[in-house]
Amino acid sequence: LPEIALAGRSNVGKSSLINRLINRKNLARTSSKPGKTQTINFYRINDILYFADMPGYGFAKVPKSVKAAWGRMIEGYLLHRRELCGVIQVIDLRHPPTRDDQNMYAWLKHYGIPAIVAATKADKISKGQWPKHLKRIREGIGLVPEDPLILFSAQTGQGKEELWKGIRRLTGNQDRLQK
Ligand code: GDP
Repeated sequence: LPEIALAGRSNVGKSSLINRLINRKNLARTSSKPGKTQTINFYRINDILYFADMPGYGFAKVPKSVKAAWGRMIEGYLLHRRELCGVIQVIDLRHPPTRDDQNMYAWLKHYGIPAIVAATKADKISKGQWPKHLKRIREGIGLVPEDPLILFSAQTGQGKEELWKGIRRLTGNQDRLQK
């Protein structure tokens, strides 16, 4: 089955995004404690695809050696997994992209991995401010024109249809690594 990976800093809302996409309260475990997920968690969605929820980057209070091992695991997965169709990078709409966000996105682009950027927690920002915040993310990470930037809220469900559309487009590319 095709796989879509989720990347983002700890506590950004990756689990909540997965749960909202599939309308389940708690398939993906959410927590208020950053840095809990330390392995890639696979969620099988209706025999259609897998979401691969990757450990959150940054903030985790772990030794450097552990961080390096995570990095190798994630890199190994993203570069060599044949089923991988693309990555949803989740960024908090409220804040400027962090250095980790910038590095992650630049790394994906360096290796030609298609991405969708989901700017989440939109419900926490008033509507009039959305364009300003979206622009800050677009410019902050250097979003390429091929990659969609989607305003999302796990709370209200905003952006859900658009995100599914993006996912379908990515899974149409299933042969990315098989050529
Ligand atoms: P993860 O570590 O990236 O998987 O983050 P979680 O999904 O566990 O979310 C971390 C916290 O942010 C939880 O308290 C969620 O309830 C909250 N959260 C996530 N997405 C949203 C959102 O779109 N809107 C609001 N208001 N809160 C959110």
